[in-house]
Amino acid sequence: MTSANASPATPIESDECQTIAIIGAGFSGTLLALHLLRQLETPVRILLIERNAQFGRGPAYATGNSSHLLNVPASKMSAFHGNPLHFLEWLRRHGEWAAVEPNTFVPRHIFGSYVRHLLNAEIKGDTLDRLTLVRGDVMDITLEADGLCICLDRERLLRADRAVLAVGNFPPAPPPVADHSFYDTRFYRPDPWAPDTLADLAPEVPVLLIGTGLTMVDTVISLLDQGHVGPIVALSRRGLLPNSHAVSGASAVLPDTPAFPTHVKAFVRLLRRRSARISEVGGSWQTVIDELRPITTEVWQAMEPVERKRFLRHLRPLWDVHRHRIAGPVAERIDSARRRGQLRILVGYIKAYAIKDDRVCVSYRPRGRDDLDSVVSGRVINCAGPNADYSRIRHSLIRSLLEKGLVRPDPLCLGLDVTGSCALLSRAGEISRRLFAVGPVTKGAFWEMTAVPDIRQQAEFLSHRLAAICRPARMPTRAPIRKTA
Ligand SMILES: Cc1cc2nc3c(=O)[nH]c(=O)nc-3n(C[C@H](O)[C@H](O)[C@H](O)COP(=O)(O)OP(=O)(O)OC[C@H]3O[C@@H](n4cnc5c(N)ncnc54)[C@H](O)[C@@H]3O)c2cc1C
Repeated sequence: MTSANASPATPIESDECQTIAIIGAGFSGTLLALHLLRQLETPVRILLIERNAQFGRGPAYATGNSSHLLNVPASKMSAFHGNPLHFLEWLRRHGEWAAVEPNTFVPRHIFGSYVRHLLNAEIKGDTLDRLTLVRGDVMDITLEADGLCICLDRERLLRADRAVLAVGNFPPAPPPVADHSFYDTRFYRPDPWAPDTLADLAPEVPVLLIGTGLTMVDTVISLLDQGHVGPIVALSRRGLLPNSHAVSGASAVLPDTPAFPTHVKAFVRLLRRRSARISEVGGSWQTVIDELRPITTEVWQAMEPVERKRFLRHLRPLWDVHRHRIAGPVAERIDSARRRGQLRILVGYIKAYAIKDDRVCVSYRPRGRDDLDSVVSGRVINCAGPNADYSRIRHSLIRSLLEKGLVRPDPLCLGLDVTGSCALLSRAGEISRRLFAVGPVTKGAFWEMTAVPDIRQQAEFLSHRLAAICRPARMPTRAPIRKTA
């Protein structure tokens, strides 16, 4: 492995072997690199490009706060589908976690260390030096006759035969407030994962969080950890908070479902029926949601487009808070902050915003009412969850790819449009042989492509796919030339 700093405007010439550039070294990109190193029999170079210093982490596992726990138990966080206890066993080999239980929710940064450890081990064993870690922000990709030109910041250029977008989770979209003073940087923080989001915040200052999902939960935990005593208000359109994982009843199971409906109403009826039945035998509704995991993508893909839209419009907020749950200790801290009145949840839509001295007054329309209410605060943090609407993402790479028509948003604006094999689709609907995507970017096609258990399978699948594509392309050039008499 080398750590490359491509020189300004100097293309790195591709040699005999193919080059695959992976853009983004969060969990998805890193895991794809690992699998590619294991899969590819042909000589290949892999460029793993990351704009942040921390390879293998991404915003989810880069947090330094030990109170930010995984929302999936250790026994389900293996990086390898075929070796489900790999993470648990890795933990147990590490002193502090020697006695960890399978259902423990460990700090997220520990998982980041695990992924980084895997990357380091793979690099060590990569005697052919096939993997190059490149620190840089990919600003554009240009399609050329014989490959791709990857344009990085500081006018650096790299050549590749294929590129995989593993760009993951973008900070939340700004709330739809016409008045631009809303985004005044004295008060407003657009990126909940940025290291300075809670910096220089006096402990008694009232804080407004936009959103009531997982990102809000993380931010409240961080505020409490830094000794915040001031009021915290979280506002969202429905005011739904993530549920917590079941503490008991997880072992009760129901007989298999003979068929899964692909109409939203029938699907909801099935969930209700099974939840009622499992509670009769002492089980928990969480089991019913979890048993859907292996089939969710299939159900999504079999749904008519109109049913998918219906699901997103009516069911998504409820689905999210039941499906993406939080660890018990985290839920307890959130409940306790609500009980003592420090954390209030409001339901409504932000309408207006006025700055008064060192405070902002945010007016919102409570759900189901016509009049306005207001919240006064000293810091407003956008916790609305990752922005998946690529038409609203301002990063130059995404804008350029969309403008050139090399990619297109998926019809439901959940990511970019891809085939079932993770090939990106152009604006004209052509299947790219050079551009691919992995991870949450592909949510439109797969829906359940957010968490580690799903991404690890997709990364492995894509590595096989790329191995197959790379192989025949080079065969003719490497086949021995027979001399004729
Ligand atoms: C706060 C948070 C907590 C989560 N907790 C869990 C959990 O406990 N369990 C679970 O299973 N899932 C969790 N998830 C889900 C998460 O989506 C996945 O687990 C996984 O981290 C996604 O990885 P990724 O690599 O696709 O995306 P990301 O982690 O977002 O990584 C993408 C990487 O690409 C880089 N990048 C983007 N654009 C460019 C560019 N142009 N040039 C160079 N680099 C670029 C970014 O800097 C980033 O490092 C969480 C997500 C978040 C946001």
